[in-house]
Amino acid sequence: MDDIGLGYKLRTAATFRGILNDLKRNDEVAAEELGVDTQLLRDILSAKCDLPPDLIRRAAEIWPVNERDFFPIHDDVPDGVVIMHREESASTSRVLRRGGRDYYEYRDTAMSRVAMIRPEWIKMLNVVEDNDPLNKTVQWNNGHFLYQFTYFIGDVNYYYEWHGTKSCEPMHTGDSVFGMPYAPHSFATRKGNSPGSILALTYGGRLCGDAQHELSVLGVDSMEKVALPSTDAQRMRAAQIRRFVADMSLSVDHLAGLTGFRPEKIQALLAGQTPGDGDDWRHLASVTGIPERELEPNVGDVTNGVRIVKGAAAQRWRLPDDADPSYEVKRLAGSRIMPYSHSLEIAALKCSPAEGVHTFETGLHQYGYVIGDAPIELEWEHRNARHRRRLDPQDSFYIKPFVPHRYVKPPGVSADDDARVLVLRVGGKVISDALIEASFIGAPALSRLISETSMWYDPKGKN
Ligand code: FE
Repeated sequence: MDDIGLGYKLRTAATFRGILNDLKRNDEVAAEELGVDTQLLRDILSAKCDLPPDLIRRAAEIWPVNERDFFPIHDDVPDGVVIMHREESASTSRVLRRGGRDYYEYRDTAMSRVAMIRPEWIKMLNVVEDNDPLNKTVQWNNGHFLYQFTYFIGDVNYYYEWHGTKSCEPMHTGDSVFGMPYAPHSFATRKGNSPGSILALTYGGRLCGDAQHELSVLGVDSMEKVALPSTDAQRMRAAQIRRFVADMSLSVDHLAGLTGFRPEKIQALLAGQTPGDGDDWRHLASVTGIPERELEPNVGDVTNGVRIVKGAAAQRWRLPDDADPSYEVKRLAGSRIMPYSHSLEIAALKCSPAEGVHTFETGLHQYGYVIGDAPIELEWEHRNARHRRRLDPQDSFYIKPFVPHRYVKPPGVSADDDARVLVLRVGGKVISDALIEASFIGAPALSRLISETSMWYDPKGKN
């Protein structure tokens, strides 16, 4: 199950060494404080033996660390791609009841421990005769923390609630929607049709994981302070700069001195009473040493918690160009709120063996599902090995970031056949400001971050 390459044990050792280095403990001091033999500690740090649970417990007792800090994640994608075939997916089938009746059949599709994408295929077992959002047979959920991208297959009604208002949108094959966390929703098949299904691709954003744990210790009272007014660009920008002013403990008079603005103007900008112009904000950012992008308001683009994209109205283009395209691409639902998540429908146009097929490469985690009725061939390169696998309709897969890959029609599949995949690309933890941070640290230092097993100094000394 676990990875080749660096290996879980080695990553555990590097993680442990990182903790000791951060705490400025050498082997002898750490062993003494933990009450273990120095040799045992060295064996752990050289990945010769496992980290005993007792030792982690002791460390969390005596040092300002958490148990979870000691555990790296598992790499269950050693080849760069994991595939889940339709049959395996069908074997995970379970029917869940709501309101005393069978409501949904769920099936897992391809997932990995490396990415927080939880993609389910769901069949709608409730059949409705109208498009009434208050239809009594519709059973609503309470909403959930994960974002949800939904792709519709068949005639399915999409029910969604936002701030107490319920809506129903009739959907067809190829339609898609982006939905906000904690917005209650439901789905049903329209009468006269065979049960419709959806691909409910839920995924965690930047708040999932470490940020979530940090918020949970800040407590409920702090949440009002964490969340900026997001419905109004002017108020949001003012709140953003007020946050920096508080974080840097700046005074209005000092800001007036730095900017050359009158104190009244500074006060109006901070209070959100004036929109200011682009030059004002740029100047303010520049004199306070804040990147301009931090003062860029994101007003969002969702309406009632959702962004619906009907298949017929979706943007489409050919890749790499119109003259000799390898693919036809269609852009499905997404939002400015999650600028590192993108959903696409990709139709393979070239037949195998094909020369000059465009190669995809993205820094995002990627989930895929074969939505066409023809098989498709996925080819990829990882750690100097080239792989090629045939995917049948309803097979699904996960591709790690930075794995170059291509899709072609396998032999026997004609130019007219429908070889299409749905892909959802989701940013992990190294996006946006983390990516900028990583860029300034640079590749050589980042390599140390993930692999270093030595101390931060040489006891023999260094001149
Ligand atoms: Fe959901």
